[in-house]
Amino acid sequence: MLIIGNGKLVTRDTQKPFFENGAVVIDGTKIAAVGVSADIKKAYPQAEFIDAKGGVIMPAFINTHEHIYSAMARGLSIKGYDPKGFLDILDGQWWTIDRHLTLEQTKYSALDTLIQSIRNGVTTVFDHHASFGHITDSLFTIADAAKETGIRACLCYEVSDRDGMDKAKESVMENANFIRYALKDDSDMLAGMMGMHAQFTISDETMELAAANKPEEVGYHIHVAEGIEDLHHCLQHYGKRIVDRLYDWNILGEKTLLGHCIYINPHEMDLIKDTNTMVVHNPESNMGNACGCPPTMELVHRGILTGLGTDGYTHDMTESFKVANVLHKHHLCDANAAWGEVPKMLFENNAVIANRYFKTPLGVLKEGAAGDVIVMDYNPPTYLDENNINGHILFGMTGHDVTTTVANGKVLMQDREIKVVDVEKVMAECRVESAKLWKSING
Ligand SMILES: [Zn+2]
Repeated sequence: MLIIGNGKLVTRDTQKPFFENGAVVIDGTKIAAVGVSADIKKAYPQAEFIDAKGGVIMPAFINTHEHIYSAMARGLSIKGYDPKGFLDILDGQWWTIDRHLTLEQTKYSALDTLIQSIRNGVTTVFDHHASFGHITDSLFTIADAAKETGIRACLCYEVSDRDGMDKAKESVMENANFIRYALKDDSDMLAGMMGMHAQFTISDETMELAAANKPEEVGYHIHVAEGIEDLHHCLQHYGKRIVDRLYDWNILGEKTLLGHCIYINPHEMDLIKDTNTMVVHNPESNMGNACGCPPTMELVHRGILTGLGTDGYTHDMTESFKVANVLHKHHLCDANAAWGEVPKMLFENNAVIANRYFKTPLGVLKEGAAGDVIVMDYNPPTYLDENNINGHILFGMTGHDVTTTVANGKVLMQDREIKVVDVEKVMAECRVESAKLWKSING
């Protein structure tokens, strides 16, 4: 048994939202109780004790859109890369990288991303992977890294025709094989989805192949209207808007996650809402790629289940939280916008999204919920309780303040020290593999 106590405990459970000096006790993989530190210590005298030292104890973060394949892009300069628009960014940078990725490079990209996730207090990751340099077994390789680092992972491979039909087929089969493997895994730490890049790189033939090979228990994870080019392509080639095309292919539904949704209209929002489909917003990525600002506040107001991801841009959910907060105020010219919606996306909706794939309650500290807990080193200059915790996180905390990360009852990091892997060794290997990747790209 493990107690994490002596901190301001934020549970996200409406029944018992806050303890000024609280503790959470984990038995095996799940939370056994929450309460006042002294009472919990007395009730479980034999348990191991992690001292939060007066910091904030809260549920670990969930990232509902990540890209492991982007890990080795940091510091890379690609010869001749001079993007004039979003399609140039995709083809000139991201597809160029993933076309060269070997299985070994996917492994180290995964280890790096998952280590950074632990450092930022993220214990559940929905990844959308591409490595057209080596497709088969890529998801299994990432799953091994997830097991090694102790992260809960929902994985998929982004199917696309962009490198030819043989690779599109291989991608569909990688998804199908991995989904079947994950469905048999009873750890509640692994899940799979049918990954799709975006409709503009997927023909009807490939749509049909994906549908025919997707186990019915899972849905799709696909980029939607990230760039205006995606919408123009769909109108030109299929005479309909993107969400209509997805609806016609039976892709929408409560297990399906749509990334971005920047260029969608009210009719498409109705389809998303009526099918109970999930959406994930990635504010930094949208801004960095100059893609535009999605109508995220409207999606939330319409009751569409909308979460928050990082799109590989960062692994720190507090960064997405802060940027989403200012982006929508700026975009709507409304200083009152986003105060309630963005915290709801990060702290409520991401958990609902994750629990469409994982059985154990996530994003909450209460009896029976997953033993996914973080400690923030935080000494507030003002009063803190359940009513203003989101303001404290927004203006006072970053991922670097996470000192301890526990997932599924296992201590992954304590006092900033990663416990599950030899970080020095992994990073040294990462640098070796990334140098090989860069050489294969730039010659
Ligand atoms: Zn993405």
